[in-house]
Parts: sequence; structure tokens; C-alpha cells
Amino acid sequence: MRVPVLGLAAGLVVLDRDASRYVRDVRRLALGDRFVAFDPDARVEADAEIVGLELRGAVTARLDPPRPAPLLPSRPVTLVQCVGKSDKLDAVVRDATELGATEILTARSERTVASRDSDAALARYRRIALEAARQCGRGDLPRIAAPQALVDVLRTIAAPIRVLLHPTAQLELRDVVDALPRSTAAAIAIGPEGGFSERERAWAEGAGFVPVRLGCTILRTETAATAALGALLVLGQPVRTTPM
Ligand code: SAH
Repeated sequence: MRVPVLGLAAGLVVLDRDASRYVRDVRRLALGDRFVAFDPDARVEADAEIVGLELRGAVTARLDPPRPAPLLPSRPVTLVQCVGKSDKLDAVVRDATELGATEILTARSERTVASRDSDAALARYRRIALEAARQCGRGDLPRIAAPQALVDVLRTIAAPIRVLLHPTAQLELRDVVDALPRSTAAAIAIGPEGGFSERERAWAEGAGFVPVRLGCTILRTETAATAALGALLVLGQPVRTTPM
């Protein structure tokens, strides 16, 4: 069982409110029970034992010396996600964390409907990513950036694999990815509910993004993100057992 402990170091540590509640109320651990503490910011983990447990209070644990996190993404993958309605980004952040994305850059495009660019929204995405990392065993978190104009986001990306997901593209993701080594950095741009405009598609192509298709149906924007990352997972294993 894994519990996030930020600023992880050997010795006694008092778990924060969320971690204490998870250990005490959700997993119902007792004094002397053991778990693995992980710190995704430092990419380390440590064996831990519960040494203090108060009803409705904080949990205290004794941590062994930290070791490098065993599971980290091997392929840098940047997801450029045009911001969708309401809580769609929550699902994208959760799935993208599980599927090994290393960066989630949110973007405003011509047909963007809503944008959640508050600090509160970013903090919420980080919590979702942390929970997904805890659950899936990953030892780090994707970097999540607040929305910027699509053109500004795309022009900063230099990954050798740059694709723009488009339902009517001629090429498939495999056509672009298969020719390159499995560790090659990739960037995947995904449109909002209304898709990319023709102008955006042309502009992205000018910035080196190759339009590619996933299957033959039109997917929802959040499904497209998950499907594309899943396809990359099959085409190139994104976790390895040594740090990047
Ligand atoms: N009516 C829009 C559909 C947008 S779907 C259009 O025709 O473009 C939202 C986004 O999901 C798209 O911009 C694209 O990035 C992605 N997407 C959906 N289905 C896809 C598919 N089959 N192949 C590639 N990308 C797809």
C-alpha cells in the first residue's frame, strides 16, 4: 500500500490530513502496520511503520531511509489538451497520470468553450494526479500547466514526435511513432469538443505537428487523450525501473 508523503525523509513523520484519513479511515491500518511512503516531487519512496494513531487525529509513522522510486515514465510524453467543459480535465489528468504522461499543458483554442485557469483548479488537478499516482504505482507526477493560447503552447515544444489528433487525418499514430526508438519524446495535441479550426490545423502543421487519426470514429476529447496515451503505451512501454 502506498501513501504520499511530501518532503519525505527517514525518521518520524506526522502524515497530513488527507494521508492520515486515508491510512486510518479508508485502509483501516493499525499500530505496527507497514506501508510504502512515496514522494513524487523527489521521486523517492521509503518503507514505513505506523507508530502513532489517534481517533480522528493525525497518523505518525517511522520511515526507513528513502530509495529511488522504482517506476518512472521512460518516454517523455507531453499532452497538449485544449480545455474542455466542466470536469473533463479531471478525467484527462487522472487517466494521463496512470498512462505515463510527463506533462499536461492545457491550452485555449478558437473553439474552447470554458477555461478553468484558477490556482484552485491547478491545485485540484495536482490532487487528482497524486491520487492517480498513488493508485497506479507511479513514482512521479506529470507537470500540469495553466491554460495558455494554443499557438504559444505548440511553439515551445521540440519533441521529435509531434502529432495533432484529428479525426479526418490520413496518417495513424503508429505511422509516426513506429519509425522512432521507444524512448523518443512525444507531444500529442488534442482539440476541444468542437475540434481544431482549419487555421489551427494549418498553423500546427507549420510548427511540425503531424495530423494523425485514431480509428475511424469521432471520440470525445477526453476519450481521445486516453486512447492516444494507451496507444503509445502499446507502441512503446512508458515505465522503466531506473530513474530518468
Ligand atoms: N467535430 C470535431 C470533433 C472534435 S472531437 C471535429 O470534427 O474535429 C475532439 C478532439 O478529439 C479532436 O479535436 C481531436 O483532437 C480528438 N479526436 C476525436 N476523435 C478522434 C479520432 N478518431 N482521431 C484523432 N483524434 C480524434
